[in-house]
Amino acid sequence: MATRSEPTGREQTAHCDASQTLKNVGLAKTTQRMAVLEKLIGAAGPLNVRDILAETRGTLKINRVTIYRILASFRESGIIREIEAGSGMTYYEMACLHNPVHPHFHCRRCGSLICMPPLTLSQAWDWLTRPSDFSVESINVHITGLCGPCRERDDRNGVASKGGNRV
Ligand SMILES: [Zn+2]
Ligand SMILES: [Zn+2]
Ligand SMILES: [Zn+2]
Repeated sequence: MATRSEPTGREQTAHCDASQTLKNVGLAKTTQRMAVLEKLIGAAGPLNVRDILAETRGTLKINRVTIYRILASFRESGIIREIEAGSGMTYYEMACLHNPVHPHFHCRRCGSLICMPPLTLSQAWDWLTRPSDFSVESINVHITGLCGPCRERDDRNGVASKGGNRV
């Protein structure tokens, strides 16, 4: 993490190569690992096991247990980060330089999890390296409220939303 160059912003489109990523961390290249990793690389937002299963099971032989095992190996290798949504559901996203640490917005109605603009590298670095009597090993920020579609549904139904400001 320390040797990485400063990310240039979210408009950056180049992303990791699945095969190279596995090679970098010394994980054997299997069809199942490749399929799961390609879904995570190509995802517009964090995925949960159900999403990954739904997207991969049509093309290869895979089940929930295999996906959990693959995700655990990715997490231990630092390829992905795990996000605990307020709903108790666990989501996963790439932890590469194209996807710097950022907060997540969790919709309390529909459960959708949306990536928010990243912390600057210096902010995150400061948190991770500041000497203190505790050690920050990962940063996990939750922002909870209503997402756009849910908020519009409430507006249409005349439900007063809980004092939230539109972002
Ligand atoms: Zn990447
Ligand atoms: Zn929603
Ligand atoms: Zn995210």
